[in-house]
Amino acid sequence: MNISKEMTVKEVLELNPATADVFRRMGMHCLGCPSATAESVAGAARTHGLDIEMLLQELNSVDLGDMSDETRADALPEGAIVQRDKQHFAIVPHIPGGLVDPATLRRIADVAEKYNCAAIKLTTAQRIALVGFSKEDVPKVWEELGMKPGAANGNRVRNIKFCPGTAFCKRADQDAIGLGLELDRRYHGMELPSQMKMAVSGCPRKCTDAGTVDIGVVGTPKGYTLMVGGSGGIKPRLARVLADGLDRERVLVTIDRVLDYYRAHAERNERLGHFLVRVGFDAFREAVMCE
Ligand code: SF4
Repeated sequence: MNISKEMTVKEVLELNPATADVFRRMGMHCLGCPSATAESVAGAARTHGLDIEMLLQELNSVDLGDMSDETRADALPEGAIVQRDKQHFAIVPHIPGGLVDPATLRRIADVAEKYNCAAIKLTTAQRIALVGFSKEDVPKVWEELGMKPGAANGNRVRNIKFCPGTAFCKRADQDAIGLGLELDRRYHGMELPSQMKMAVSGCPRKCTDAGTVDIGVVGTPKGYTLMVGGSGGIKPRLARVLADGLDRERVLVTIDRVLDYYRAHAERNERLGHFLVRVGFDAFREAVMCE
């Protein structure tokens, strides 16, 4: 086996599922969690206070095979987020843009009630989080909901926020729902060097915070403005205008190029805004803008 410290935990597990027993023995019980498995082996060693050389030696000495039944039973159920008490789990179904019909809302309410959900939380990312299930109930909850997990954590494209745009809002300059759904279809859950948030607003009022996310699309009377490199968090960062006056197709083509370039050149866990500072905004723009 040739496992290196640069590989992600996920890559190691895919290469040899039996290494899950080593990770578990070392205190990593979060192998079902996308943010944990997206971490590098070196990062995981740091997080858990382990000697990286010792961890690599252990991982490389495991015979190829499957993980043990104990480790499988110990791993987080798919689509579950462990809660503060370490005993209960939240789930976040994928609901693009928070657009939901009455039948789905009724089903969510019925399942939440049946499995003693402690709280239903409307999140800032236009999601519905169901909080406080037991580990055994999580697979049954997903089955009865008939929905897929939303990308609520990990180094991937999270829920894409969009406003009502020209479909409903009297102030809108451009469509936001159609474009937001298309972005969701193309990118939701896509793995990248770091987490990625996107938003579409139908006008410059930016009700979906399109000026403070990694990729924001803002409708104007002259088309769409594409903004990049924003973020919230401990040190909030305003996004910068990459291009304006774009039609829908140019928006999609340019975002494709931004993601390709970012994926090819960014370091692990480097948010788009930090990447832009490192490579230089002008160089980045030259690399991703088409004629
Ligand atoms: S961003 Fe503009 S179009 Fe969208 S909801 Fe706000 S005011 Fe309406």
